[in-house]
Amino acid sequence: MKILAIESSCDETAVAIVEDGHVLSSLVSSQIDIHKKYGGVVPEIASRKHLEIVDRLVLQAMEETDLTLEEIDIFAATMGPGLVGSLLIGLSVAKGLAISLNRPFIGVNHLYGHVYANLISYPELRQPFIVLLVSGGHTEILLMEEWNTVEMVGKTRDDAAGEAFDKISRLLGLGYPGGPEIEKAARGGSPIYSFPRPLQEKGNYDFSFSGLKTSVLYFLQRNPGVSVEDVAASAQEAIVDSLVTKTFDAAQNLAVDKIAFAGGVAANFLLRERAIEMASKRGIRVFFPPIDMCTDNAAMIAVAAYEKAKRRLYSPLSTNAVPYLSLDVF
Ligand code: ATP
Ligand code: MG
Ligand code: FE
Repeated sequence: MKILAIESSCDETAVAIVEDGHVLSSLVSSQIDIHKKYGGVVPEIASRKHLEIVDRLVLQAMEETDLTLEEIDIFAATMGPGLVGSLLIGLSVAKGLAISLNRPFIGVNHLYGHVYANLISYPELRQPFIVLLVSGGHTEILLMEEWNTVEMVGKTRDDAAGEAFDKISRLLGLGYPGGPEIEKAARGGSPIYSFPRPLQEKGNYDFSFSGLKTSVLYFLQRNPGVSVEDVAASAQEAIVDSLVTKTFDAAQNLAVDKIAFAGGVAANFLLRERAIEMASKRGIRVFFPPIDMCTDNAAMIAVAAYEKAKRRLYSPLSTNAVPYLSLDVF
């Protein structure tokens, strides 16, 4: 079964073709350079840019795979959460293709896309497992017992982990997105400063990252000329330590022996290293998406759509963009 999926929830336009869960083509065009000068994503510009490039990406994916549109069995697109104008571009293109070629259409929850990106590297992964969803907008520990439902175990009370990386990167005068920049800077430094790891009481699976950001800000004000690399390494250590400790405690407490990492922050090398270390100590298996499929992409949307397609769960053509789509609905 060949699925063509489009992702356009934020500032990446992405198109992928996946056959039975196997990625044939995955193209991502980022608008980061365009939004950079405004200090954030400008929704109106984002949707226009999606519209400008999406056709070209579809054609490029067809060329790369040597397939024709008639050979695609299902068209899928992210239906939320995200920027409404941006979501509508991918949705409209996928629905238009489905109508004209008389094929089913499947709308996908972007967050389930991040979770199912794990199947690209581990097709054998089966529920139940714990998910640490760590992206630009989400930081949640989830228990996934069924293929299409998750139960919230813990979540951030303020900033998401990716947001913390982005904000601390800005404080350090590093670029955007902050995660990869901090990771790179940290390689040249040592985690010699101790930044807060809040909510450490046993059994508390919530996170808080806004205090860390403030504490880095004050530290920089008090210590002008301090090594950016050492501060980056110390901040990264604090974020990763909180994430890994709580996720493994939650898994152990719920007697679940598998943890899947999802979202942009799951690309972080230190997070992977610490998780693998702790996994071998505690007899838990850990799973990660391919590094380049942790941040937004369409392959993860196609793989998630495949889970629905296998069960013949197609979406009506009246499917609308849902900017605040929650994890309650796949
Ligand atoms: P959401 O999926 O919650 O709607 P999003 O789509 O913007 O948000 P993603 O694309 O999943 O988020 O992830 C982007 C975030 O991941 C950014 O905050 C970025 O800094 C972070 N990130 C990317 N790579 C790394 C890395 N190597 N280390 C740490 N953080 C990273
Ligand atoms: Mg993005
Ligand atoms: Fe995302």
